[in-house]
Amino acid sequence: MTVPPPVPGPISGHGERILVVEDEPAFAELISFWLERHGWHTEIAPDGAHALRSVEERLPDLIVLDLSLPRVDGWKVIERVREQSLVPIIVVTARGSEADKVRGLASGADDYVTKPLSFPELVARVAAALRRARGAAAIPGAAATLEHPGIRIDGLSHRVEVDDQPVHLTPTEYRLLRHLAERPGVLVPHADLLVAVWGPGYRDDHHLLRATVRNLRAKLAARAGGRRYIETE
Ligand code: CA
Repeated sequence: MTVPPPVPGPISGHGERILVVEDEPAFAELISFWLERHGWHTEIAPDGAHALRSVEERLPDLIVLDLSLPRVDGWKVIERVREQSLVPIIVVTARGSEADKVRGLASGADDYVTKPLSFPELVARVAAALRRARGAAAIPGAAATLEHPGIRIDGLSHRVEVDDQPVHLTPTEYRLLRHLAERPGVLVPHADLLVAVWGPGYRDDHHLLRATVRNLRAKLAARAGGRRYIETE
């Protein structure tokens, strides 16, 4: 594996800590190299058990997670991390399979990149995820509670209830629901939704939107007895 040329562009990190979970040493080093050169600090965990120990010791600002890992696999890592934290997780999936992406997002990942990996793309997604995490609290009105028939969205605790029962959403699902709930009855174009929820650079990622909407809908419907909250054109 050779070191690729530097990527031009405005992205630069703010020294956040990124945990890179990858069992192939050369690949882990390469990911780390790319992230470090953009101004982030990285730590490498060679398997899921190391990753969980590291998260336990000190929560990183973001996790880049390979799904196929020895010992504790990536799915388990997402599940365990989500029990205690909303730290952004970007999964690296070996196959571009839609099923894997849907499952990854449903488990609580925020975004994914597929192998063979484009490093500039990974860097852009890391920057976007960190920006979202930083900006989430800074949006005016984000702390307000929104109520629509049967559904309540608490902007402070990010707690969502359907018919008074809690619905557990991933951070991305929450942002998507929130964005739609702030615009009841409005048809939001896919590209606008992608930019608003994920950030600029995502406007064409229809897979990501479809998979997230599907998961969000399923979670709401499970509580709402089939009542639909999100309609697509
Ligand atoms: Ca692997």
